[in-house]
Amino acid sequence: MRIDSHTHGDPRAVQDPAGYVQSCRERGVDAIVLIEPLERCLEAVERFGDFIIPVASVDMNAADAGEVEDCIKAGCRGVKFIRPAAPYADERFWPLYAKLEELGAAAVFHTGYLGFRSREDPPVWMEHMRAAQVEAVARRFPDLKILMSHFSNPWWEEAWKVAWSRENVYADLSGGTAYRRAVRMWAEMFAPDGELIEESIRKLCFGSDFHYFLETEFPFEAHIAFYEKLFDAIALSPELREVVNRKNIRHIFALAEE
Ligand SMILES: [Zn+2]
Repeated sequence: MRIDSHTHGDPRAVQDPAGYVQSCRERGVDAIVLIEPLERCLEAVERFGDFIIPVASVDMNAADAGEVEDCIKAGCRGVKFIRPAAPYADERFWPLYAKLEELGAAAVFHTGYLGFRSREDPPVWMEHMRAAQVEAVARRFPDLKILMSHFSNPWWEEAWKVAWSRENVYADLSGGTAYRRAVRMWAEMFAPDGELIEESIRKLCFGSDFHYFLETEFPFEAHIAFYEKLFDAIALSPELREVVNRKNIRHIFALAEE
């Protein structure tokens, strides 16, 4: 079983929360990291209990440390950052990261490509959200647990190197692109020429980036199949599959060992 590290959705769309959770668990997902604004996160926890690991999305260009603190004190396990008006590593954002580090909560960064609109205001650049930016944040805040969503698409190598090398950084292959690349390509990244680099696969998390709470649709199944193919391609041990499928997420979001 696994925890989905990156999900969205409106929890009010489900009529029967207990039945929905059971359906997800039967299909291999035990719990989800839900990334939504604070109110929606809290509503989801109220309806779905421990199926939800709430992570509040905030407007990082407007938020201050107080808002970050409010999210965590209200019960969120971390805060999601996206669409910065300056590179993620810019000093203007440091108070947000410092507050999370102080509270022992996690930072989830959108990394890499984003479906931009034309003439956005403020303008957003992919380059501000690449893994290299997160690497600088990770060094400045060494006790801050960081999850890089989407493996810095398309700067895959960069994300691989950063997650491997920085103890406090993890990454997932969520989103619409990574799982469409050849399993061979990923197998080559984590096990070049068939030699597993254990420290690098140890920092990977299972993740989909799909919308949940659509009672008859379970689109995360394609991601499950992709990860399982990758595990098989590199002959990953049961212990390491557990690390990727759930243990890393429990560690990042400071959930008790089971
Ligand atoms: Zn997302």
